[in-house]
Amino acid sequence: MTDSNTCDVLIIGSGGAGLSLALRLAAQAKVFVLSKVSLNSGSTFYAQGGISAVLDKNDSIESHIKDTLIAGAGLCDPEAVKVTVEKGKKNIEWLKQQGVEFTEKKSKTGEKSLHLNQEGGHSHRRIVHTADATGKALSLTLIDRARAHDNICLLENHNAIDLITNHKNKEAVKKIIGAYVLNTLTNKVKTITAKIVILATGGANKVYLYSTNPQISTGDGIALAWRAGCRVGNMEFMQFHPTCLYHPKERSFLISEAVRGEGGKLILPNGDTFMQHYHEKRELAPRDIVARAIDSEIKKHGIECVYLDISHQPEDFIRQHFPTIYKHCLSLDIDITKQPIPVVPAAHYTCGGVLTDLNARTDIQGLYAVGEVACTGLHGANRMASNSLLECLVFAEQAAADILKVLPTLTTSQPLAEWDESQVSDSDEEVVVSHNWDELRRFMWDYVGIVRTNKRLNRAMRRVELLKEDIAEYYGNFRVTSDLLELRNLVIVAELIIRSAQSRKESRGLHYTKDYPETDNSKPAENTILIPKTD
Ligand SMILES: Cc1cc2nc3c(=O)[nH]c(=O)nc-3n(C[C@H](O)[C@H](O)[C@H](O)COP(=O)(O)OP(=O)(O)OC[C@H]3O[C@@H](n4cnc5c(N)ncnc54)[C@H](O)[C@@H]3O)c2cc1C
Repeated sequence: MTDSNTCDVLIIGSGGAGLSLALRLAAQAKVFVLSKVSLNSGSTFYAQGGISAVLDKNDSIESHIKDTLIAGAGLCDPEAVKVTVEKGKKNIEWLKQQGVEFTEKKSKTGEKSLHLNQEGGHSHRRIVHTADATGKALSLTLIDRARAHDNICLLENHNAIDLITNHKNKEAVKKIIGAYVLNTLTNKVKTITAKIVILATGGANKVYLYSTNPQISTGDGIALAWRAGCRVGNMEFMQFHPTCLYHPKERSFLISEAVRGEGGKLILPNGDTFMQHYHEKRELAPRDIVARAIDSEIKKHGIECVYLDISHQPEDFIRQHFPTIYKHCLSLDIDITKQPIPVVPAAHYTCGGVLTDLNARTDIQGLYAVGEVACTGLHGANRMASNSLLECLVFAEQAAADILKVLPTLTTSQPLAEWDESQVSDSDEEVVVSHNWDELRRFMWDYVGIVRTNKRLNRAMRRVELLKEDIAEYYGNFRVTSDLLELRNLVIVAELIIRSAQSRKESRGLHYTKDYPETDNSKPAENTILIPKTD
């Protein structure tokens, strides 16, 4: 590094995608890794189930590919699926070499092997895990490894505001040259110069009122890439988890599907069950159908949540099977052995994102996107459980190989223009930001959620237009803060989701609209690709 603001590779994000890529590059490159808050603030830390990989002798690459393609409802890119699945085993080995300890089992002869779980959509046991806290094990191990590396500089509390390209110089090929970054502790904006920039900023699920995701998941990378001129794909496919705890103090705690698996009943406030009206398997219907049924009941009755009742099971059984859920709910004065659990569906995973090729390259030279921020073609119209952490690892590996090839040919750009604050002042109206945050997330939930209609989407788009104006004016007049930056990004993400949903005239995978309830099989399925306007 020539100075504290210059590096070879700038990685925006310290989740599974960002850190695994940093570790793969650090022997040959000076790497900066940014995190908006602490290093373990992303979704990776909260992943429970595990990572899919073909390791069981009865399983096969073909079977994992087939399951993924089925889940993706006709929109997976077969090449992306093949690359990801084929590299599963190697990436689990790599994680073990980094020090991640996965849960093992012993055979009758005493031999140890990885214990594999099975999850929805997978036709074999193929989920490698560390008990029920895989993401935590992965996150903490990679953070330790990165901390120990001399070539990796970890910058917590650094919020990337915008990417910098050579565009102003009107060069023929648009190239990345750095980024403006707000240090949220000092409130100073840095100009970071880099030969390569990677977006590893995670998903955009905080665009909805209810989400299982941590606070950082505000789609920043998608908005940054869009503003810089990258195409974005398949944003209508937002995955909702059916049962997230509904409580004023806790908006992102998952109530595992296993509760329904063990006989938990979904009920209305008056105690009536309703799943019998939606699917013959009732509570055990596929995730999307359960989420849609709950959403429909909430809207029909104008209620805030439904309830999941497992209290008919013996107290010991509940405590033994669901210790974490039991303790967590009790801490909020909900005794699940005696009373039903208030639940709502919640936004869980962003299948779409910044379009990339198989090496994680975006439309801008030197800019890559890895992890949940990207649309690689792996998930298509619906993500299969535990394929997402695998995607983070495999595409980090792909990107690393590509970057190490091109890096020696790149030079650092001349000093970049500094951030200009001469025209702005400190805000005296922070309430505008918090009000707009709330409004955006609520209308996205009400109008662009699990069940959509043309009318609701149009209504949401009108709100977005107004908010965009409001936010642009505010952004032009006041010094940036993290909340303002996130809001500015969220409104772009909201617009991209609505535009994508409006353009899909069918229901497919995670996108369900009452106006076109059937899948259009009269022609080949098409991705939704949005192209930014360039000036
Ligand atoms: C509760 C839960 C359970 C899950 N369980 C599983 C599972 O069992 N298996 C599975 O495969 N998937 C699971 N997922 C999904 C999976 O965890 C995520 O898709 C994956 O971890 C995303 O990793 P990532 O590195 O792309 O992003 P993240 O881990 O979300 O990290 C994003 C990083 O980017 C940083 N960042 C964001 N914006 C900026 C900015 N503007 N400037 C600087 N830094 C920024 C954040 O601070 C953070 O460090 C689960 C998700 C959740 C929420």
